Amino acid sequence: MIELLFLLLPVAMAYGWFMGRNSIKQKDQTIKQDLSIKYSTGLNYLLSNQKDKAIDSLLDALSVEDNSVEAHFAMANLFRKRGELDRALKVHEHLVRHGNLPTKDKQQAVYELGKDFLSAGLYDRAEKMFTKLLKSTAYGLKSLTYLLQIFQSTKDWQQGINYKKLIVKFNDKRLLHTLANFYCELATNAFEQDKFLAVIELLEQALKLDPNSCRANWLMAKIYENHKQSELACQCYQGIYQQDQEFFPDVIAQMHKCYLDIDASEEFFYFIKKVYDETASSSALISYLGHIELKFGNKKAQEFMLSALKRRPTIRGFEYFVNMQKNQTKVQVKNASLDLITELISEYLKIKHRYSCRSCGFNSSTHYWSCPSCHEWEQLKPVRGLEGE
Ligand SMILES: [Zn+2]
Repeated sequence: MIELLFLLLPVAMAYGWFMGRNSIKQKDQTIKQDLSIKYSTGLNYLLSNQKDKAIDSLLDALSVEDNSVEAHFAMANLFRKRGELDRALKVHEHLVRHGNLPTKDKQQAVYELGKDFLSAGLYDRAEKMFTKLLKSTAYGLKSLTYLLQIFQSTKDWQQGINYKKLIVKFNDKRLLHTLANFYCELATNAFEQDKFLAVIELLEQALKLDPNSCRANWLMAKIYENHKQSELACQCYQGIYQQDQEFFPDVIAQMHKCYLDIDASEEFFYFIKKVYDETASSSALISYLGHIELKFGNKKAQEFMLSALKRRPTIRGFEYFVNMQKNQTKVQVKNASLDLITELISEYLKIKHRYSCRSCGFNSSTHYWSCPSCHEWEQLKPVRGLEGE
């Protein structure tokens, strides 16, 4: 009998293993059925437009099975896009609190939650979320970008500067450019209080971060000018041309004044002729014509202008040309018609925008360093073409 028991032992073990396996299978099946019911209920609620009930049901399903995380992210992002922030927040908060999510998903949940708070204007809470992710390989740079966006909205320039070390470490051009503008903002405040050394120091930091920041050179030229260091101001203006040819037309008049201060008018016109040859800018042309008029007379200047207009016609150039004719002619009748033409052109130019954002196309008559529409820095530049430069 004992031998028989020994013989049956392996059979009993095999039976036990078989039954156990079946029991796990059955459990799996029950879980899957449970899930399926929860998903169907969730979908039913969604279809009958009972979104909050749908969210509860779908979130409940998440606590049972983690394979559905992607679907939850998609659902929450859809809510955010539709402006239903409370619902997006509910899903993302649930994902953040979920105990068994892998690190990657957890970080994504924190990141998305930060974006929800940002969309809702809850900057302090968004900042908290993004700060948590600064060491993340996948979300570090993205989070830092959002953090700078928050500091830009709250005009908390110093807060942004506190992240300088990390920004330099990431070596991302766009972030460096943004931070350079934060320094320019502080420099503008110092400029208004005429703190010469502070302004120079802040702008040097800006140029170190972004050597192409024409804003830093523009402000530096202004402070040098105010402190009667016109030669240094002239160098800054020349630097602007090297940095940003599109923005340069805006500084030509001021640059001319600086060169006059150091009695180097010839040098200025030599430079501005080079600018005109390279860029065909209307402002450079008009500035250079003043020089030709003085040196060679009105007739030569008109000839030069006419050939320039034939090569590249612009309304501003034409307005200047008509004014030249007006100054030359002595016949009163002709003057009256020329007056009418210049008045018409001037009115036309008044309704045209001087600047356009190279990033989003926003048009404006006033210059802004940060585009009021897309908030990009240093993207508003003089309009080019027939009605502009
Ligand atoms: Zn823009």
